[in-house]
Amino acid sequence: MEQLIYLDNAATTKVNPKVLDAMLPYFSDKFGNPSSVYGFASGNKQAITEARENVAEILGADPSEIYFTGGGSEADNWALKATADAYEKKGKHIITTKIEHHAILHTCEYLESKGFEVTYLDVDENGVVDMGQLRSSIRPDTILISVMFANNEIGTMQPIAEIGRLAKEKGILFHTDAVQAFGHVPIKVDEMGIDMLSASGHKLNGPKGVGFLYIRKGVKIRSFIHGGAQERKRRAGTENVPGIVGLGTAARICADTMEERARKESELRDYLIERVMKEIPYTRLNGHRTKRLPNNANFSFQFVEGESMLIMLDMAGICGSSGSACTSGSLDPSHVLLAIGLPHEIAHGSLRLTLGDDTTREQIDYVVEKLKEIVEKLRSMSPLYEDFINGGKEVAETKTEKK
Ligand SMILES: *Cc1c(COP(=O)(O)O)cnc(C)c1O
Repeated sequence: MEQLIYLDNAATTKVNPKVLDAMLPYFSDKFGNPSSVYGFASGNKQAITEARENVAEILGADPSEIYFTGGGSEADNWALKATADAYEKKGKHIITTKIEHHAILHTCEYLESKGFEVTYLDVDENGVVDMGQLRSSIRPDTILISVMFANNEIGTMQPIAEIGRLAKEKGILFHTDAVQAFGHVPIKVDEMGIDMLSASGHKLNGPKGVGFLYIRKGVKIRSFIHGGAQERKRRAGTENVPGIVGLGTAARICADTMEERARKESELRDYLIERVMKEIPYTRLNGHRTKRLPNNANFSFQFVEGESMLIMLDMAGICGSSGSACTSGSLDPSHVLLAIGLPHEIAHGSLRLTLGDDTTREQIDYVVEKLKEIVEKLRSMSPLYEDFINGGKEVAETKTEKK
């Protein structure tokens, strides 16, 4: 098979051709600055307004509550830093989880260095936060709860509406990093009690470098970038018009096709999971079996090293990603896999495959066949596996499929 099989849609996605078409004129003919008064540029202002309306409608929000940013990381940084800034008189305690994206975790570390206190909630073996622990972590000086909507590595979705209700009951702001979820699963900010929400264009077949932060009306939040009056003076800088148009178009397409796509992707995902679990021994499925993103599968193969697996998959034309971080110069496996309780050696043998709307059953069949060969080959070179086969014990319990 010569074709590239891209199963890393949690890392980034391909821009939908319709999205690209919508963006292109704003690089050339329609290059005007949206802040200019002449008629030539007024269409650009209008295009931004439409994108804002599109995004707002999908969330059940008001367009004035949407602030475009330079991506998901910026939205996360803004939500945390500006809340800390605006509410520090009320208190300096923030609650988040151990499995957040680094855009949240590293921002929390920064806030800790500025005198804030952060509670990092545990998750269970499926990656779900413990509501009891969340409840008991709330203090009079807690100003913010930030819990991601869906995890980027293991796909687990959190009980967002329940967290929203608790936050409201306690009068605490609730932010969710919905970068993996927005456009993929239904989200309604009112029903779910969400006060702030981050999203990013390139995780929903839109462009990179553009995202938004939803900020509920009435939330005191500081400007993130000071300068001109763009984004109601809260995020200055000449707007990324093509990017914003792309994000708005991508969001619209995702919303219109969500049900159909989620059904198709989750069917293929389940097929992939079923075959891998059945045909490759000593394999564990990471993440919740059902409460997970429609396109996410994450496995740990015992006696296999993740990086070698990725390289061999790459040679077979398959793009996936691993929970081991050797390439980034660190020997520590993913903080998410450790948080769900995997021992290091199991976490190192992890593989994340995230499907796209163009993934086919034939591709999945090819991937499973290749994966079987690769895992077998890598195991045959592993001294641990040899010991195990010769009567040793398993490194850890991995056969149990967690419900
Ligand atoms: C990708 C991602 C981000 C970062 O978004 P960028 O637009 O790449 O900055 C943040 N959170 C989660 C959960 C993500 O998956």
